[in-house]
Amino acid sequence: MDYDMLVIGSGPSGRRAAVQSAKLGKSVLVVDRGRRLGGVSVHTGTIPSKTLRETVLNLSGWRERGFYGRGYRVKQDISVGDLIERLHKTLDHEVEVLQHQFMRNSVKNARASVKFIGPNKVSLTSDNGDYSEVGFANALIAVGTRPHRPRDVPFDKIRVFDSDEMLELDRLPRTLTVIGAGVIGVEYATIFSALDVPVTLVEPRNSILDFVDREIVDDFIHQMRDRGMTIRLGSAVKEIRSKPEAAEVELADGRTIRSEVVLYAAGRTGNVGSLGLDVVGIEADSRGRIKVDPQTFQTSAPNIYAAGDVIGFPSLASTSMEQGRVAACHAFGVALPPPPETFPYGIYAVPEISTVGLSEEQVRESGAAYEVGVARFRETSRGHIMGVNTGFLKLLFSIETRRLLGAHIVGEGATELIHIGQAVINLGGTVDFFVNNTFNYPTLAEAYKIAGLDAWNRMGR
Ligand SMILES: Cc1cc2nc3c(=O)[nH]c(=O)nc-3n(C[C@H](O)[C@H](O)[C@H](O)COP(=O)(O)OP(=O)(O)OC[C@H]3O[C@@H](n4cnc5c(N)ncnc54)[C@H](O)[C@@H]3O)c2cc1C
Repeated sequence: MDYDMLVIGSGPSGRRAAVQSAKLGKSVLVVDRGRRLGGVSVHTGTIPSKTLRETVLNLSGWRERGFYGRGYRVKQDISVGDLIERLHKTLDHEVEVLQHQFMRNSVKNARASVKFIGPNKVSLTSDNGDYSEVGFANALIAVGTRPHRPRDVPFDKIRVFDSDEMLELDRLPRTLTVIGAGVIGVEYATIFSALDVPVTLVEPRNSILDFVDREIVDDFIHQMRDRGMTIRLGSAVKEIRSKPEAAEVELADGRTIRSEVVLYAAGRTGNVGSLGLDVVGIEADSRGRIKVDPQTFQTSAPNIYAAGDVIGFPSLASTSMEQGRVAACHAFGVALPPPPETFPYGIYAVPEISTVGLSEEQVRESGAAYEVGVARFRETSRGHIMGVNTGFLKLLFSIETRRLLGAHIVGEGATELIHIGQAVINLGGTVDFFVNNTFNYPTLAEAYKIAGLDAWNRMGR
């Protein structure tokens, strides 16, 4: 065998599996067909969209508007150039860190397209046609996904873009329609809205972000509408037209939305087409997703693992990394404790949403008696100092065991603050943790104390 572990794809799951395998003393090759290492996460997904968000919030003065008013701006005319500059610096740095990490751990890497040609063999074909074959003992399929592009949508990168192409805009659109109110859709819609671009968000279903607590989503929708975004729920798209003067989105109810640019962000498809999965007896579903054992990440071929977006929900960089690590440990016989009960979900919209554990709807469905504690950020001194007048934290406790069942946040810092809730849930903590512990003051984290007391006052001792 040439390698103990062959990793196909250098995104979060591939990267983590490669480094973990190397730390266990194994020989590792990572092959990616992209121009640079890092995958969707570094080049078109997580890092670029989060860098864009940070730049937009900084240059627009968004975080200060609660204090100085909605008209407050740090920079008056924000150009695409302003946004791209920070993006390139961040991406270069991410790639450098990754290359260095591979080098330090003696992980080899190659640029080529990979295809299975036997149970322990792949072919590598580079862009210039170079061909080679590599033998492996174990392999990880970490090929990720690409935007779903229906044939009848006229993607042209002039009027109609997919989410990978949004970063190639040559100027800020005067108006934007976003189709698909999933995580990617709401993130981009709210980021552009924070730049004062009038945005229409179109979603065929009547609700959005169904895995998030309804009260949080209702508040989020209220905040989006309050700042002038148009949200069309329950609106199926009949046709999208790219015209010289504008893009047109015709809805099934007969209305037509005109805007300078359309972002089509309705789902993603696994990159499995050219992998030769049939050679190793692995099947993918109609969206290119591979089924794995949820504990070990083995596919139907026991020495071939799959992790990251190609195995479907939750399709996060955070969970992908952990899946890669677990797969590598299993491949080399390292026993791991059972995975924690819950993981956090972060939605980097403006405002942020983050959630861990059970939503109120799920608790209610379980039939367990529960109590809710709520804290509004504007009730905290830190909130006053920052001029934060929106956002809240909601905690759900079991009345019987007093344990924290779920934590849900919409507002500034949500994706950082959520880890307190995560730790308490996964360590089996109760409402008494929040009541009896001292929190730094003034902080937004103090909201946990306030929400804990809110529930405790109704629960009694
Ligand atoms: C706009 C956007 C925003 C996001 N924001 C967040 C966020 O805030 N937080 C979060 O946790 N997640 C976020 N995600 C999700 C996150 O990016 C993905 O979950 C993560 O990148 C998946 O990692 P992966 O390991 O599946 O590999 P990917 O990052 O998908 O990379 C796969 C790699 O495989 C390579 N490849 C594919 N086929 C082959 C082949 N045949 N041969 C060789 N190489 C191949 C590709 O070139 C690519 O480099 C976001 C995604 C998008 C699109």
